[in-house]
Amino acid sequence: MTGVHRRTFLWGAVAAGAGALLPSAAVPAAAHAGASPGGAITSKSVGAFDVVALRDSADTFPATRTEMFPDATEADWQRARRADPGAFGPDLAWKLDFRCYAVRRPGGRIALVDAGVGPAGSPGSAWAAPGVLPELLAAARIDVADVDLVVLTHVHEDHMGWSVSTDGVPTFPNARYVVQRTEVARLAATSPMRDYLIVPLQRTGQLREIDGEVRLAGARGSRLTAIPTPGHTVGHQSVLVDGHGRRMVITGDVLVHAVQLVAPDVGYALEADQAVAAETRRALLADARRRRATLATAHLTSPFVNARYP
Ligand SMILES: [Zn+2]
Repeated sequence: MTGVHRRTFLWGAVAAGAGALLPSAAVPAAAHAGASPGGAITSKSVGAFDVVALRDSADTFPATRTEMFPDATEADWQRARRADPGAFGPDLAWKLDFRCYAVRRPGGRIALVDAGVGPAGSPGSAWAAPGVLPELLAAARIDVADVDLVVLTHVHEDHMGWSVSTDGVPTFPNARYVVQRTEVARLAATSPMRDYLIVPLQRTGQLREIDGEVRLAGARGSRLTAIPTPGHTVGHQSVLVDGHGRRMVITGDVLVHAVQLVAPDVGYALEADQAVAAETRRALLADARRRRATLATAHLTSPFVNARYP
């Protein structure tokens, strides 16, 4: 995480010789998902990749927006409301989506970025409405067997919910689950996430801990890359989708509300390190603007947003 402080750009060309996590696949291409009537599934192409936004759940946060972002000014809130009007409920309610992204790669293999709130009985369902990811995957014609990568941006309960069943069986039998090593290391031995998520994935040999920036799939000019984006948690990561000059960043929780898009210095009360989180956010947004990358966020109420807010 210290590397972020010294780098001009948060992401760069993946270092020559960086190991690929997976070879490129050769499976027939599947159909495009399109958009579902409720807007729970929306897809956008990024070069040869098809990025499918899957809204697992939507709910009201259990605390108000002013409690969670105490430093935001009234002007910040007004700009945020223009950027994401759906996030503003009655009074000071914060309405948010809980979204995952499936990236369909040339050949048809799928990388899933984050795994939602999960079913009733999952840790996330203690404070957010249980999710519907299996139905969304079926509607998008995504077979769990075709998911060969599950990238968890971080190990919070609203991002890993469908990774394993409530009785500890990995949902995606052919996937490697990719998490930053520092993210796993930060979990205390007594963390419920260890027993719920980490131990089952270790038992089946599906946990893949990575260090820093790693090419996940694809090759030069058309690839998926994990990039460390610390702050929300110590081992938080995002996924850069690079499709021959078209770019998208699947941000995870680098920004959790549009107020952090329009005012990147505004901290979120539950960030592990607010100073590092703000620095990461500024760098990521600056890079995204410079490189005309679309942002794909977990919690804004629009799946794909432009980074070019003043
Ligand atoms: Zn989250």
